[in-house]
Amino acid sequence: MSNQRPDIPVHLRRRPTSAGLVVPVATPRTADGQPLFGLLENFRQRHLLTRRLCQICGQPLGERLIVFARPADLLLHCTSEPALCPPCAAYSIRACPMLSGRLEHYRRQTRSGVAGIAADTGSELRADAPADAWCAVWLRDYDVVTHPVRDQVLAASWLRHPPLTIRPIPAR
Ligand SMILES: [Zn+2]
Repeated sequence: MSNQRPDIPVHLRRRPTSAGLVVPVATPRTADGQPLFGLLENFRQRHLLTRRLCQICGQPLGERLIVFARPADLLLHCTSEPALCPPCAAYSIRACPMLSGRLEHYRRQTRSGVAGIAADTGSELRADAPADAWCAVWLRDYDVVTHPVRDQVLAASWLRHPPLTIRPIPAR
């Protein structure tokens, strides 16, 4: 069994944590401040995608960036997940229960109602889908496009930016 609370990289040590895990910039919170891991909401997702900011640390992405993609995303050459900087991607692969296969299903979206977050398309980005095998797609850049199959959802597309490499994330 892997360590579920890996060491926090230096550049993330100012971020808030919950149960030993860094709370990503992208993660919405309930009214009383509890992080809703695994959820995305529209405004934040759009902000991170269009400003080209890392979804964990919030810093501008550099010349190498990573998007996590499922098989369906690979077919479409895009994902609604905002990208990550390489150190945050390395941390996420170790820390994130969804990526490392410790969650069989994503959390149900009913929690977003509790959180007072509008149940818009953004909050359904990861709605209760079965867990898939994830890949880390290494890119130099992406285009912000309208998602080809999700109405009014933006996505990072690598159709015009051939990946530097695509690495399967091993299940643990
Ligand atoms: Zn980062």
